[in-house]
Amino acid sequence: MTAEEKIRYIAEHNGLEKALDKLAEECAEYAAARIKHNLGEGNGEYLEELADVIIMRAEVQQLMPKEMKDQISEEINRKLDRQIERIREKEEHVYKRG
Ligand SMILES: [Mg+2]
Repeated sequence: MTAEEKIRYIAEHNGLEKALDKLAEECAEYAAARIKHNLGEGNGEYLEELADVIIMRAEVQQLMPKEMKDQISEEINRKLDRQIERIREKEEHVYKRG
């Protein structure tokens, strides 16, 4: 089985609600591990937790119904546009000062 096939198999076993809860759990574990890393503690466990987050993100993405995917896509586009706008405003500010 490829990694993608394994993710699909596990996602179908879990179902969307369980996958969403597990994603939240793994995000919390990653956040805790990354904070430990930034404090000079831990032994790189944040990479393992990041792998868990990425797996759960893939599961959730596979399980989302079309309506939810469309809504998320709209949110992503809106957020990306806003972020690009902020970067450009910052660049413009630096350009005017310099
Ligand atoms: Mg974990």
